[in-house]
Amino acid sequence: MNKWEKNVRKVVPYVPGEQPDNINIIKLNTNENPYPPSENVLKAISEIDYNNLRLYPDPTCNILVKAIAEYYNISDNQVFTGIGSDDVLAMAFLTFFNSDKPILFPDITYSFYDVWAELFGIPYLTPELDNNFFINPEDYKKENGGIIFPNPNAPTGLYQPLSTIEDIVKYNSDVIVIIDEAYIDFGGESAIKLIDKYDNLLIVQTFSKSRSMAGMRIGFAIGSPILIKYLNDAKYSFNSYTMNQTALNLGAACIKDKAHFNKTVKKIIDTREMTKKQLAKIGFSFPDSMANFIFARHKDIPAKELFLALKQNNIFVRYFDKPRINNFLRITIGTDEEMNTMINFLKNYINKLSVRQSLI
Ligand SMILES: *Cc1c(COP(=O)(O)O)cnc(C)c1O
Repeated sequence: MNKWEKNVRKVVPYVPGEQPDNINIIKLNTNENPYPPSENVLKAISEIDYNNLRLYPDPTCNILVKAIAEYYNISDNQVFTGIGSDDVLAMAFLTFFNSDKPILFPDITYSFYDVWAELFGIPYLTPELDNNFFINPEDYKKENGGIIFPNPNAPTGLYQPLSTIEDIVKYNSDVIVIIDEAYIDFGGESAIKLIDKYDNLLIVQTFSKSRSMAGMRIGFAIGSPILIKYLNDAKYSFNSYTMNQTALNLGAACIKDKAHFNKTVKKIIDTREMTKKQLAKIGFSFPDSMANFIFARHKDIPAKELFLALKQNNIFVRYFDKPRINNFLRITIGTDEEMNTMINFLKNYINKLSVRQSLI
């Protein structure tokens, strides 16, 4: 080790899903949307003035903040935007999780939370989900420095009713509770309706999944004006110009097209329900996902084997080699055609194995 290395901040980074060069794959590994964004976005792209790229973007992100506030029928000062919800979440950890007491999040959840906690030196505890992967609200009624979890949870897809969220937020009025709603549009009810009642509640959402804009990196937080002010203070102390002007304009154009959003979200939900039925028929079981993915395991065949077999056939899904979940595949909902190709592959693979086994 070099002498100077002892003073380097060392982190074990988050590992995102693969983005392979090969475009001829069925990509069901990072929960992207299989459909393009609204045509409003295409129009906004055609209106980009390249001469304006000379200028810094609007540091207040006004055009996008306004569009989001309008969509949710809330005030501009209840909205904060950032470079994907990962940026918004990182900023929220930095701003709100500043106690000596541990923050709390489930043992099985978005694997970025412990990475940010380590990066920022925030103590944390991870209460275990129950055997059906549900949160026990009582685990979140112990002394803590803040709380975060996704609803629906990742990678399980399980949604907890708003009454559970409210129970936790109400009990923890002395800390900030962050609900990561990356997947809320696929069937759950958003906790946004609770923000006027609880000033310690922050909701984080993203354009990456339900709004087909993962490539533009747009995320946002919704909460009481005082929380949003604290977030902005931290942002301006870090980087005034987080979001680029193109992302701001395209994001605003995107969220204005409700019809396109409703249509594509419905298609994904329908495909998800069809996929659940097909997977169950060939021996898979899974929590009842309310997200754009299914977290499934097979009764006979190890998940890792299926993951590798699928990958060899250019079908990419996600596999987490972690305790309690290392026999599950997280399968993003693609188009009907993509899902049928995957299901047919699995069907054949499972059949071949059982024929071989019956011969032994
Ligand atoms: C995808 C995801 C995010 C991050 O999304 P961005 O692309 O950074 O907006 C955050 N939280 C959860 C639970 C996610 O699955």
